[in-house]
Parts: sequence; C-alpha cells; structure tokens
Amino acid sequence: MGDGHSREDGHTAGGPAAHPAAGPAGGDVGDSTRSVHAGRPPARAYEPSLPGPVFVSHYHLPGEPVGPYTYGRDDNPTWDGLESAIAQLEAPDDPDASTLAFASGMGAVSAVLLSQVSSGDAVVLPSDCYQTTRALADRLRSYGVEVRMAPTAGDAQLPLIDGARLVWLESPSNPDLDVCDIRRLADAAHAAGALVAVDNTLATPLGQRPLALGADFSVSSGTKALSGHGDLLIGYVTTRDPELAASVRLWRKTIGAIPGPMEAWLAHRSLATFALRVDRQAENALALAEALRERPEVSELRYPGLPTDPSHALASAQMRRFGSVVSFTLPDQAYAERFLGALRMTAEATSFGSVQCTAERRARWGGDAVAPGFVRFSVGVEDARDIVADVFQALDAAAAGE
Ligand SMILES: *Cc1c(COP(=O)(O)O)cnc(C)c1O
Repeated sequence: MGDGHSREDGHTAGGPAAHPAAGPAGGDVGDSTRSVHAGRPPARAYEPSLPGPVFVSHYHLPGEPVGPYTYGRDDNPTWDGLESAIAQLEAPDDPDASTLAFASGMGAVSAVLLSQVSSGDAVVLPSDCYQTTRALADRLRSYGVEVRMAPTAGDAQLPLIDGARLVWLESPSNPDLDVCDIRRLADAAHAAGALVAVDNTLATPLGQRPLALGADFSVSSGTKALSGHGDLLIGYVTTRDPELAASVRLWRKTIGAIPGPMEAWLAHRSLATFALRVDRQAENALALAEALRERPEVSELRYPGLPTDPSHALASAQMRRFGSVVSFTLPDQAYAERFLGALRMTAEATSFGSVQCTAERRARWGGDAVAPGFVRFSVGVEDARDIVADVFQALDAAAAGE
C-alpha cells in the first residue's frame, strides 16, 4: 500500500473535491480496497485514520474572505473527505471527477434539475422514476419548463430527446426495476445538445458508473445502500465537468441543502464496508429471487440479476452488481399486508439498501403505477437461508389467511 507516512497531506481543501489518481484508493485497485481507503488522508503519526467530524459554522477568517474554508454553508473538511471518496468510487479512472454532497438524495436531485434548467427549456424525465423526483416535475412546469415523460423500459425516452436541455434517467428504476441503455440514451442526448443525469441510487457506484457510460451527472441518494445502515440521510452529485460542478456547488450554497458534518462523517465511515455490504446484498437478493420463482402466489418477480429477468441482458452489459432490491406482486392488498405482518426478521419500512431486510407494500404511498399487492423487498446482509426462511414462513402465513 506504499509508505503512507512519508506522503504530503494531499487533502484537497475547499474546492469541489477533485481526487488524486494515485494513493491507496486511486489507480488500479479493487472495489473493496477503494471502499476502505478512499478519501482518507495519508497516515500521519498520532492522527486518526478518518478525522472526526468538523462541527463549524464560522471559521476563523481574518482579512480577505477567501477559502479554503470560509463559512459552514460553503465548505467543510468533513464533506471534502466524503466527496473525494465518492468521486473515486463513481469515477476511479477520472481524476477530474468531483462530487458535491447534499442534505439528502432529493437535495441532490433538485440541485441538478433546478440549477441546469431554466424557464423555456424542456426536460425529459422517466415516467416511472422515484416519485418525489416526479413531484418536482410539477414545480418545474410552474416555472415554465416543459416536462416530457416516458417509461424507462425499452429506452422509451429516446424519441422525446430532441430539443431538450436535460435528459434524466433512472436505471434500474425504483420501484419497478426496469433498466434503460444509458450509453445509447446519453449518445442521443449529446447529439441533440442535451445534458444527461442518471439517478444511480439503486445501482450504487459499485454497481454502475454512469459517467463512464456517458452521463454528465451521476446523482444519488446516499441514504440507501451507500451509507447502508438506515440511520442517516445524505445525497450527492458527481460530474467531471468543472463548470457543471461549479454551478451545482453555487446552487447548494444558494439553497443551503448542505449535509450535516455528522451525517457526512458517518457516511464516509460506512464506506469502509460498502463493497462487503453490496456484495452480500446482491448475493442474498439473487438467492431470494431464485427461491421466489418456486412460489405460485408470487407474480411479476423482478431482479435485474436474475438470468430470466427482462432487464438482465442490458443490466449485465452496463452493471457490475445488481443491487439489493427484489420486487414481486402478491394476489391483492390484504394478501400483501398479511405477508408483511407475518415477517419476523424483516422490518416493514420504506427505503432500501440497509444492512437489515426491509419490505413494504409500495402502493400504500400512492403515486407509483404498481399493483395493490406489489412488494418492494430490500435484502440486507443477514444469512441468505434465514432471509428465505423468513419470507417463506410469511408467505405460508399469508396463504393460510393468518
Ligand atoms: C430515495 C431515493 C431518492 C431520494 O433520496 P432521499 O435521500 O430520500 O432524499 C432519489 N432517488 C431514488 C431512486 C431514491 O430511491
């Protein structure tokens, strides 16, 4: 791993945290190594490996108000560490990539949409994307933006691209788990002069690298598998274009959707187990999906990692891991409620990507075009046989009307 003690402190203070190509987590290392080391400062005698959160609103700032650290809404060294780590995970081969952290995934999603689009522009959104992103469409329309929508499956957004300013993709989509061809759509968007953003929440940077597939922005909720413990909200935007980064950064400062230092630190700390967690989740999700194929009461079973899934061929071509979410439909609402109520180890909860299994009947929120019995199941890092056993006993209980 090299002699960390002799290196200079390469901490990139202030600016959108560009990451060094070399160092323990840069260059040609594996995902687990990168997850453990990314964004940590070089080892220094008597210092912790990951410096604690810096709680600050005003820095001591004599004279001219120039950085690296001016005011707590503008910059924070704890963000810098996390941002550098995420930039390395999203774009390990691109030292120009930079990441900006936000208070939540929606803070990041709205930062890209609202900073890049003006009145009179057109935006292409997936009609099946995360429902709060779709809620933002109404706000955009009220600002004089034309919003065009088509489903993720079959690259149906393709015919809507001409004349658009921004094309928003979400692949795999939440909650339907459809996949689009990011490279194909990004090429078409660029040929038409449009920017491309991909919501990478479900895949995570260890599952898919949107920038390498041609996107201008990779946007994510780190609330889910990236931080993975179900105990914080955070979001981020990664881009390789310094001007785009600067405009998103200015938006963050203007709107103030900044992460707390404690959340940023916890997210960075959690990255050390990121590869371990997503590998185990993907293994468990596939085991659950395969087991569920035997159950006659289960229909519309979806998992992009399942070889029989309609998305599998495309997902295999652009993804390296298929995520923690398995979805399926039970006969009706009451049946799904009985199933969820009978689960012993799996918490009935929204969100996904946590170390513990969670599941919910997605239609309870309204807003998604899913059947009343549609279940979104997020697989944790427990033992696969325990997860399958819990699901099967709950299915049996639901079938017996318990
Ligand atoms: C959860 C989620 C978001 C929003 O993230 P928050 O951290 O909850 O604000 C955005 N996109 C997708 C795909 C999500 O699943």
